[in-house]
Amino acid sequence: MTVLEIRDLHVTVETESGATPILNGVTLTIRTGETHAIMGPNGSGKSTLAYTIAGHPKYTVTGGSITLDGEDVLEMSVDERARAGLFLAMQYPVEIPGVTVTNFLRTAKTAIDGEAPAIRSWTKDVRESMTNLRMDPVFAQRNVNEGFSGGEKKRHEILQLELLRPKLAVLDETDSGLDVDALKIVSEGVNRAKEQTDLGVLLITHYTRILRYIRPDHVHVMVKGRIVEEGGPELADRLEDEGYDRFVQQVAEPT
Ligand code: ADP
Ligand code: MG
Ligand code: MG
Repeated sequence: MTVLEIRDLHVTVETESGATPILNGVTLTIRTGETHAIMGPNGSGKSTLAYTIAGHPKYTVTGGSITLDGEDVLEMSVDERARAGLFLAMQYPVEIPGVTVTNFLRTAKTAIDGEAPAIRSWTKDVRESMTNLRMDPVFAQRNVNEGFSGGEKKRHEILQLELLRPKLAVLDETDSGLDVDALKIVSEGVNRAKEQTDLGVLLITHYTRILRYIRPDHVHVMVKGRIVEEGGPELADRLEDEGYDRFVQQVAEPT
C-alpha cells in the first residue's frame, strides 16, 4: 500500500500584489485503492492543490508537508514525483508542438520505469487502451494536445493514466466539458485503472455528475483554501441538492 499524506499545507501564489495565500492548511490522506473526491466552488484552491502535489513552480509551499510513504514529496523534482508513482491530469492540458502522442507516451513510460518498454507488448497495450477509450488510431500520430477537442484532451489524459500505471492519480476536473457518452468512457478508463493497479484517486470536481460513474469512498469540500466538510458518498448527494452556499457562508462569517 502507498500513502500520500498532506499535512496542514499552506500555499501561496505570486501575483502583482505579492505572495497571495491560496491554501490555508489542507490536511488529507489518500491510500492506494481509495477514491477521494474534492469538491468546491470555483476559486477555492482545488487546482492549486493539484499543481502543488505535481510540483508546479508557480506555487510556493509556505507551511505543512506532503509525503509519499514518508518520503518528502516537496523535495522531489517533477520527474521524481512521476517516478515515485504520482500522476496529474491537468484541468488545462498543455500543447506540445512537434511531439506525437505515441512518442510522448513512450518517452514518459521510459522515464518513469527507467527502461524502454518492450516494443511489441507496448504497441499492443497502447492499441488496446486506445480502443477501450474509443480513440481513433490516427490520434497516436497527432501532436500532443494540438487542436485536441476538450474530450480528446481528457481521453488522452486517461490514456496516459492507463499506460503509465501510477500509484496515485490526481484528476483535476476530468469531467469538465464532456458530454455524457465521453464522461462514461473516461470514467470507465479510470475504473479500469483502479481495478488493474489498485490505483488511488484524488478526483477534483465542481459537479457531482462524474461521481455517479466513479464512486468516491471519501468526499471533501474545499472552500477558500480549507477543507470545511468531509464525509462519504452521501455528502456528494447532499451537495447536489444544496450546493455550496451553506459552506461558503460558514467560511465568510466565522463564529
Ligand atoms: P479552483 O481550482 O478551486 O477553481 P484555483 O486553485 O484555480 O481554484 O484558484 C484558487 C485561487 O487562486 C483563485 O482566486 C485564483 O485566481 C488564484 N490563483 C490560482 N493560480 C493562480 C496563478 N497562477 N496566478 C494568480 N492567481 C492564481
Ligand atoms: Mg481522509
Ligand atoms: Mg480548478
